[in-house]
Amino acid sequence: MDSFEYNANPGRVIFGSGSIQKLPDEIMRLNVSSPLLLSTPRGSGHVYELTRILKGASIKPAGTFNGAVMHTPTSVTFEGMQFLKSKSADCIVSIGGGSVVGLGKALSARTGAPHICIPTTYAGSEMTPILGETYAGHKTTRTDPKILPAVVIYDVDLTMTLPPAICTLSGVNAIAHAVEALYAKNSNPVISLLALEGTRALAQALPQIFQDPSAQPARERALYGAWICGTCLGSAAMAIHHKLCHVLGGSFGLPHAETHTIVLPHALSYNAPAIPKQMKELATVLPGSEGDALKGLNFLLDSLQAPRALRDFGMRESDIDEAAEIAMAVQYPNPRALEKDAIRELIRRAWAGELAKANL
Ligand code: NAD
Repeated sequence: MDSFEYNANPGRVIFGSGSIQKLPDEIMRLNVSSPLLLSTPRGSGHVYELTRILKGASIKPAGTFNGAVMHTPTSVTFEGMQFLKSKSADCIVSIGGGSVVGLGKALSARTGAPHICIPTTYAGSEMTPILGETYAGHKTTRTDPKILPAVVIYDVDLTMTLPPAICTLSGVNAIAHAVEALYAKNSNPVISLLALEGTRALAQALPQIFQDPSAQPARERALYGAWICGTCLGSAAMAIHHKLCHVLGGSFGLPHAETHTIVLPHALSYNAPAIPKQMKELATVLPGSEGDALKGLNFLLDSLQAPRALRDFGMRESDIDEAAEIAMAVQYPNPRALEKDAIRELIRRAWAGELAKANL
């Protein structure tokens, strides 16, 4: 057996249908009483529901800040901090996708107020001590144990309205965390087990949601998979896939979940020759693989009618060379050394929307 190191992130997870009803108990458990509720402008329905539940337990929210937007701009964080202070809030409750979770993390890390997170997508940010923020158009990422939310409440009922197309993108984004955890430089047997279980759950559930968006058991299984994949992201170092998505999102403004979905099969095909054991394991949890993980991933993306081409999201052919240059400029651990021509070809295939093939 290979030697390994294992670090578990602390954190409390409450999972189940109707579990937002437990929010008042969780606030009291943290010994706080005045929550600031965070959402996007479109998340006011969820905030209304939270307010109703809190009032039923005689907890008065300190206030509601619904200014969360994509990429956690520091200008919004500073606005949120002023609001939090003006209302004397002593804890933060974020409800929504990764954009809201990011704002909750940014506020909690700066103020020390404990963060209760109620995710409504599969992005997985709630399980990580990682925070990406933008300032003057530049995205920086940092990791700090105090960024990790204190409590995460997963309530499938809140995800029933997530449109199947967003389930697909967000779900494949989650699978990408698990895939990279399998071959991370700090991978270990526990995280590998989680990575396979999370992938298995999402690969089963996403096509069922696509066929029948009202299928509650499938939604529940997808959320369970998203939790596990988020745990993988929070514990293992990410490699070429996440690096490329960071470059493509940060330098070319490509959308987060769409980029992850399109790049994943190509990143896997690049690494395939260096990770035969992981490819075999991955094939066992991807339906339609017939022993070939790449075939299984292509099968999954086809069955979800997932987007395949970065050019459909505004990337220009002339951006390919620059993207390859940036990806090569900062070296990072990856099971296969970075080769400029193959990386360029990987990006070109993702740009053109070609089927991923293990011949990079
Ligand atoms: P998002 O929060 O922008 O949500 C995507 C869309 O889904 C939005 O339009 C939102 O309004 C909608 N939505 C959310 N919940 C819904 C629901 N229940 N019903 C209907 N619509 C709903 O995006 P995301 O994909 O959840 O998260 C992406 C962001 O998270 C990115 O900024 C990314 O960088 C960040 N992220 C961070 C980490 C980390 O560890 N720091 C990990 C993963 C993602």
